[in-house]
Parts: sequence; structure tokens; C-alpha cells
Amino acid sequence: MAICNGRSGQLETVDADILVVGSGAAGLSAAVHAAMAGANVLVIDKGIIGKSGSTVSAVQSAAAGKWSTAQDSLEAYCRDLLASGKGLSDPQLVHTFVDHLERVLDQLIAWGLQLDRDASGEIVRTEAAGHAFARSISAAGGNTGRALLKTLIRQANRLPKLGKMPFTACVQLLVRQQQISGALVYDLLHNRFRLIRCKSLILATGGIGQLYHVTTNPQQATADGFALALRAGVRLIDMEQVQFYPTSLVVPHHAKGFCLSFYHFAKVYNARAERIMQRYDPVRLENVPRDAICYAIAKEIREGRCTPQRGLLLDVSEHVQRVRTWFPHEYKFLRQLGIRLEAEPVEIAPAAHFMMGGARINRAAMTHIEQLYAVGETAGGLHGANRLANNALPECLVFGAIAGESAARYARTASHFNDVDGEMLWATVHRYEAIVSRGAAAPEQALRPFHWKQQIQRTMTEHVSVLRDESGLRAAEQHLRDLSEQWAEVRVSGFPHRLAKDFLEMLEVENMLLTARAIAAAARAREETRGAHVRLDHPDSSPQLVRVEVQQVEGRLEVRRQLQAEGGNR
Ligand SMILES: Cc1cc2nc3c(=O)[nH]c(=O)nc-3n(C[C@H](O)[C@H](O)[C@H](O)COP(=O)(O)OP(=O)(O)OC[C@H]3O[C@@H](n4cnc5c(N)ncnc54)[C@H](O)[C@@H]3O)c2cc1C
Repeated sequence: MAICNGRSGQLETVDADILVVGSGAAGLSAAVHAAMAGANVLVIDKGIIGKSGSTVSAVQSAAAGKWSTAQDSLEAYCRDLLASGKGLSDPQLVHTFVDHLERVLDQLIAWGLQLDRDASGEIVRTEAAGHAFARSISAAGGNTGRALLKTLIRQANRLPKLGKMPFTACVQLLVRQQQISGALVYDLLHNRFRLIRCKSLILATGGIGQLYHVTTNPQQATADGFALALRAGVRLIDMEQVQFYPTSLVVPHHAKGFCLSFYHFAKVYNARAERIMQRYDPVRLENVPRDAICYAIAKEIREGRCTPQRGLLLDVSEHVQRVRTWFPHEYKFLRQLGIRLEAEPVEIAPAAHFMMGGARINRAAMTHIEQLYAVGETAGGLHGANRLANNALPECLVFGAIAGESAARYARTASHFNDVDGEMLWATVHRYEAIVSRGAAAPEQALRPFHWKQQIQRTMTEHVSVLRDESGLRAAEQHLRDLSEQWAEVRVSGFPHRLAKDFLEMLEVENMLLTARAIAAAARAREETRGAHVRLDHPDSSPQLVRVEVQQVEGRLEVRRQLQAEGGNR
């Protein structure tokens, strides 16, 4: 593959007041609010704008103020969030989130979002575990994420100052003297690097699901933003806090990770035909919160009482009509796969679902690097040790809006772009050129990025999942370090006239490796059980509340444990 503008060439340079990386709910919310405030905005995405990432799959959003139930209050919502975060949610972020949610929803409605309503015209509001009131709303009959994206794209198309660049991957954040100056990006359609200079950069690259063998997340969730942030010196918090969805399809392979929401009225069996919840929770059986059933399923799999595909069996044959009524799209999808719930159980396992941790941000969604923001799943601190159902979409909308508006205010006062560190920029370009030039030799025998992806997934699934212990975490860290060293042998072949898939995969593997190492290191530093996982060697929660922070300093990952006051001060 030729890198057209390599060693001798000049990089094509694009200028924008604000560069938004990622076009899910968080990125598009940021872009639209920034452009509405008068800034010149450019959104890039390594996939199709507004159609890649996790947002498209989301079903419901929590609401506040007039969009929630009349008995609800902002105080009650804050209480629920703080309780669910188990001491790790940042109260400042919690209050900011709840305070801004109503006005952000107002704006979406004004831009044309239509909420689902019942026969009498009332907004449908449903209950969800952990929320004291029925505050979950939806749009487009439960295709809420898709409806939000459509509304945001429609609004974006009305804004002449908002540009979009699809199939453009962010390769490196350019930081100079603790201030953002732009990003090195790669145009995957034309196989070339570009420099984008900006006054502010908003990182909205979504989650990390692809680090695991089974995930509910789409293929783009390769942890890019976490690694980009680490390389830029950003502090990440709570990286050990990965949320798993308990009952996701294991087979068929192409539907792996699809979430089945009806487990609370089904029965879960292990490979010995034992109904496992009779042992783990004989009173409530399967009708328990996600983390409890996740633990039980994960334990059965770890101890080998599982299918050859490392799954358990979910039997809902006595309540198929309930599935048809309450979860019609799940019923339909299973039928399309040839699975008849009346006749056979479904093979399931916990799947990596959501990253609670991420870039440490302040109330304006800015990291400690000047004018570098992080929003949506890439940011940490709001959900603490456990995200409540339907709180991810509104997080994206609120902090996207706040970051966009803050960056636009800055753009009005900043007269020039921060200088770009040319040495850093060209060193990166040359490094990738060197890797690509190795690729031509013997691609059919070569180790491809894909092989690393599989190895990372195996290690993370085995040692850094729901159940963890010191020796497994050490083994994972060692294996991930080994994989980083073997990376020198990677071969990347290119397809000059097609999407540069191998090149993108190479970038993704580097991001996955670094983020996986940060997660494993943070998980080992949390010597207690809190939130989404169980430390088998430390099964209880410690009375001392500790926050784990990871930062890359001079090429090395540094892990810090910081004592917190209850409620998680900053
Ligand atoms: C199956 C499923 C169901 C869910 N259901 C719900 C629900 O009902 N309610 C709820 O609140 N939450 C739900 N969630 C969680 C929620 O959907 C996500 O947390 C949220 O949508 C994340 O939005 P985001 O904008 O941060 O990232 P995403 O929507 O994932 O978007 C990130 C974008 O960044 C792009 N990108 C990544 N790396 C790069 C790079 N290097 N360069 C350029 N672009 C890049 C990606 O292509 C993608 O388009 C669900 C998640 C899943 C997977």
C-alpha cells in the first residue's frame, strides 16, 4: 500500500475551530451544539457518519424534568445514580448531568425527535432496574439510538459550518505544552494521512467491547479513544469497571453478542442440566439484577459446566408469548436465525457491554489537557462502578452538548491555532510507513493484525472478565506485554483501490493492546470487589474507597490508587 503523502511529501492540512472524533450520539451532540453556537466544526468517523458505533443499537433513554414521571425529581435521580455508582460516581458530574438533561431533550424535540406515545397520546415511560421512578423513554418504537442519530444528522445538515469526513480514522492527538493543537488522521478511502489543526478537540469514539471474545458492541468499538487519550498523557479513571451483559447469544457466530433481555422470566441451565440459580439465589432465581446473574453464569463457565462454545442454556419455552409481546424484535431476530424458543433453549454467555471508566473530565467535559474534551462512553466518572440502565444515551447527549458549547465559546476568543509538534507528527507517519513497507514481502505467511485481535480477546476474556484474581491478572498483563513486543513482526498488506481495512485493523490493534493493558493494570490495583466484577481473591468490598487512575508517562503506564471520601471527591 502506498502512503501517498509519506516521507518526502507534504501533509494535506485542514483547519477547523473544533474537531469532533466519532459520530455516535456523543460526537454528533457535541458537533451540533458547537456549530449552533457559531463555531466551524469538523466531524470525522472511521465508519459511516451517524451509522457506526453502539448508539444505533440503543433501545431507551432515561429522562428528567418534564420528560420524566410527575413524581420524579432531580434529587431522586441523583440519588439513584450515586447509589448505583457504589461510591465511585463523581458527584459533580452526576449533578451536572441531571441538571442539563431536560433542556437537552427539549432541544431534540424542537429539532423533530418524536417520543413513543401510548393510545391516549401520553409519553410512554417505563421502569428500569435501579431507577426509583419510571423515567425511561423511547422513540421510533424502541429504535431510540437510531432516532436520536437521525434527528442529530438532520440538524447537522441544516448547519453550514458543520463539515463531515467519513472513513477517516484518528491516528494521533497532537498536544503541545499541555494544549491540543490538532490530530493526525488517516483517510481510509484514499489511503493517505492528513493533518487537522483545531483549537479544541472532542473525543467521542465510544467503547471497548471488541477487547472481548463475546460483546454486544459493534466492530468499531476497538477502544481507540482510550489509547489516543493515554498517548496524549490524559488521565484515565475506573478502567477496571467494565460492565457485562449477562445473557447474550454465543451461537451462531455471526449473531454472537446479541442481547436477550428476557432472562428474568426464563431458566438458566448449565451443561449438566442443573438450573444454576437454584444454587446461587434460590428465592429470586433468575429475577435478579444483571451483576448477580452475570456472576453465576461466569462462575459456571469458569468451572467448566458449560457447552463446548463456553455458553449456558437459556430456556424460555414456558413464556414464549411474553417474549413475543414484550420483546418482539428479539423474538423476530431469533426466528430469523432459525431458533424456535418453544422447542429449544438458547446458548448464552455474559458479553462485554459498556465501559464505565475513561478519560477523567471536569464539569465542562474537558480533560486536564487544555481544550481536549472527552464525551460519551470514552469519558469516565459519571457511572462509577455500575451504569444504570438507559443512562448511557443521555450521558452522550448532555456532555456532548456541554463540550460543544464550551469549545465554541473558546473558539470565539482564540485568535490562532496552537503550534503543531512537527517532529512528533512525522515520527508517527514514518513509523507506520515502515510497518506498511514490511507488508509487501509475503502476505500469505505473515502475521496479520487480525491474529493479535484474537489473542487480545482470548486473554481479556479469560483473565479480565467478570471473575478475576491476582494471578490471572498478572498473566494477562504479561501476555499483553509480550504481544506488544511481538508487534514488531506484524505484516500489513494494503488494497490501494479499496477501503484500507488492514491498515485500520493495525491502528485498532495498537489501541486495543494499550487499552487492554490499562484495564488489566487497573483491575489488579483494585484489591476488592466493587461494582461490575468479583475479585475471587478479594471477595468483599473494602471499607476504604479507592479510585484507580492510569496515565502513560514517558511511554510507561503508571497506575495510581487514590483514597476517596465517600461520594468520590476529585
Ligand atoms: C446492543 C447495545 C444496546 C444498548 N442499549 C442501550 C440503551 O437502551 N440505553 C442506553 O442508554 N444505552 C444503551 N447502550 C449503550 C449506548 O448505546 C452507548 O454507550 C452509547 O451509544 C455510546 O455512544 P458514543 O457516542 O459514546 O459512542 P458510539 O455510538 O459507539 O460512537 C463512536 C463512534 O466513534 C467512531 N470511532 C471510533 N474510533 C475512531 C477513530 N479512531 N477515528 C474516528 N472515528 C472513530 C466509531 O466508528 C463510532 O461511529 C447499548 C449499547 C449496546 C452495544
